[in-house]
Amino acid sequence: MPELPEVETTRAGLAPHLIGRRITGITLRRPDLRWPIPEEIAEQLPTQKILAVRRRAKYLLIDTAPGSALLHLGMSGMLRVLPASTPVEAHDHVDIAIDSGRVLRFTDPRRFGCLLWQPAGQTHDLLRDLGPEPLSDDFDGDYLFALSRGRRAPVKTFLMDQAVVVGVGNIYAAESLFRAGIAPNRDAGKVSRERYARLAASVKQILAFAITRGGTTLRDFLSPDSAPGYFEQELFVYGREGEACKTCGRTLRGLRLGNRATAWCSRCQR
Ligand SMILES: [Zn+2]
Repeated sequence: MPELPEVETTRAGLAPHLIGRRITGITLRRPDLRWPIPEEIAEQLPTQKILAVRRRAKYLLIDTAPGSALLHLGMSGMLRVLPASTPVEAHDHVDIAIDSGRVLRFTDPRRFGCLLWQPAGQTHDLLRDLGPEPLSDDFDGDYLFALSRGRRAPVKTFLMDQAVVVGVGNIYAAESLFRAGIAPNRDAGKVSRERYARLAASVKQILAFAITRGGTTLRDFLSPDSAPGYFEQELFVYGREGEACKTCGRTLRGLRLGNRATAWCSRCQR
């Protein structure tokens, strides 16, 4: 599943091809993805100039004067900017044609992605209750400490709650907790301010590093220029249950938290 670094890499790859371009047409090869594609997409977007390409959590927003196309890649979605003459394949569901003679093509075999409409000046329901961006100044140890008091959920589950902070998926939560030396099953309300400061710093470092490397490469995701990321080689705990800790050598344990597999080191993480 594309995680925040892949979505940010996608945004950065698409932006120079889209910003300032005019939309010349929309081709919808099916009426829905995960949800029906609203009629405003085909009615409002043609002739509009693309003003910005933004990311909020794992959503991409293509801004025009009347509103924004709101895209999510779901489990298997991919966005590419291609020559308009590029042959259409089975899972190419949407083309947004632009005046450079290219199309922004949305491909999604499993159709868990979405294409929705956010009128200008409004916030879509899907974006309304999201926590801060992990790379913003609003996200730090003091914020996590204050929000977590009295919470008995495991700290890993707390960190993956989109109302707490957006975009910290299973990989990044596991790796950040390892780097901060915090056991993933510890009660969120019992982690100290100092340890939360370390955790917030770890989340930022790991996500920023993953973005510079083009995101992780899991399953079939490729960045727009088809350059795979290399982050997978740097993983310390994610997916490594039963293997030796790279720091201390102890065998990594596994447990399930919030129905997600979690590997961790019982010596390095307390
Ligand atoms: Zn260890």
